[in-house]
Amino acid sequence: MRYAQSVADLVGNTPLVRLSRVTDGIAATVLAKIEYFNPGGSAKDRIAANIVDAAERDGLLQPGGVIVEPTSGNTGVGLALIAQQRGYRCVFVVPDKVAEDKRAVLRAYGAEVVVTPTNVEPDDPNSYYSVSDRLVREIPGAFKPNQYANPNGPRSHYETTGPEIWRDTDGRLTHFVAGVGTGGTISGTGRYLREVAGSAVRIVGVDPVGSIYSGGDIHGYDVEGVGEDFWPPAFDPSLVDGYERVSDAESFAMTRRLAREEGLLVGGSSGMAVVGALRVARDLPADAVVVVVLPDHGRGYLSKIFDDDWMIERGYDVAPVASLLPTPSE
Ligand code: PMP
Repeated sequence: MRYAQSVADLVGNTPLVRLSRVTDGIAATVLAKIEYFNPGGSAKDRIAANIVDAAERDGLLQPGGVIVEPTSGNTGVGLALIAQQRGYRCVFVVPDKVAEDKRAVLRAYGAEVVVTPTNVEPDDPNSYYSVSDRLVREIPGAFKPNQYANPNGPRSHYETTGPEIWRDTDGRLTHFVAGVGTGGTISGTGRYLREVAGSAVRIVGVDPVGSIYSGGDIHGYDVEGVGEDFWPPAFDPSLVDGYERVSDAESFAMTRRLAREEGLLVGGSSGMAVVGALRVARDLPADAVVVVVLPDHGRGYLSKIFDDDWMIERGYDVAPVASLLPTPSE
């Protein structure tokens, strides 16, 4: 019989799929690593497993312990499904801008969700950060993974994402492209690829317009999970050879194209990463192999990127699908 002992054993080993429609006019091979194949639906399952393992080893999580983390989605899902398997409770602190659907997913996995106001300063006692710090102090046995600073986040990509990509491309990879949020994906994967390939692999970060990493003005933007207004300790920028800076409008247009043209229903940061990867690939020869990470599933964005009214309200173009239905005669 062939089966996994638990859902946690199904994390990683996600497939690469060639992009064939959005790459029109590009000679290089562009391969997307589809992280929604992880059981919780995103790349964050990888870091959750590694962070919990390390916390148990270091005695930070004891039987009956409670995981407390400010997270608006993917990391929470990853932590919740690992925690369940091991008998820990989870408390997640989410800002109220996070769609109710996403909070409902966390509750469905058995986590408790504390909602905090979005529009307050970080040092306000009601902020996302203050509330999670207070809960960590008050809840006995609480452990805060702190994905922005925990070295076990990038380490999980060093141990899994990097080797998987190298193995699946038979070492022919020439360019690695990933969006940067906490920086865990690009730092861990990048470090592995540097070790095995040296400078033969170019490592490119993709950053939303408005974020700190790629320079320029720092301001708000709509794409979720990527970009920052500070440099997180989990990110090692020395591994990055260059950045592509992508606007929300470009990210969302590509996200919608990936669903309609490639059959890949993915989130906005995936669309953003693909825009970056196509810019990288545009001038490359046919023997170049570009791998781009698509971090999560698109189902969490149905009421945003995939909703025409939301898109139009926020000033984004939508290319409507032509209707095949007969127009009702008046
Ligand atoms: N996309 C999404 C949807 C994410 O949740 C994250 C994680 N914040 C990223 C991309 C970026 O990954 P990383 O934190 O490893 O840089």
